[in-house]
Amino acid sequence: MDTHFPLNARNGSSGRGASLCTDCGSPRMRITSVVTVEYEVTRQPEDLHVEVICDSVGDADWDSDSPASCSTCNWQGRVGQLLKPF
Ligand SMILES: [Zn+2]
Repeated sequence: MDTHFPLNARNGSSGRGASLCTDCGSPRMRITSVVTVEYEVTRQPEDLHVEVICDSVGDADWDSDSPASCSTCNWQGRVGQLLKPF
C-alpha cells in the first residue's frame, strides 16, 4: 500500500511557507527598504513655513542588497543571502 504526499506544494500564497532563513529555516523574515517621498511645496511671502501642495511616494522595493533579519533566531544579513527569496 503506497501513500503519496504532495512534496512540491505550488500554493505560494497560503499555508506553510518555505524556508527563508539560512540559520533556523524560518519562513518569516523582515526586510527593510527605503522609500523616497517627493514633496511639492510653496511659500507665501507672509508665511513663516512652507505649505505642502502635494506629495508622491516613490517606488518601494527591495533588492538583494537590502537588509534582512529573522525574528525567530535574530539572524541578520542581506536579502541576497536568504534561501530562495523569490
Ligand atoms: Zn532564523
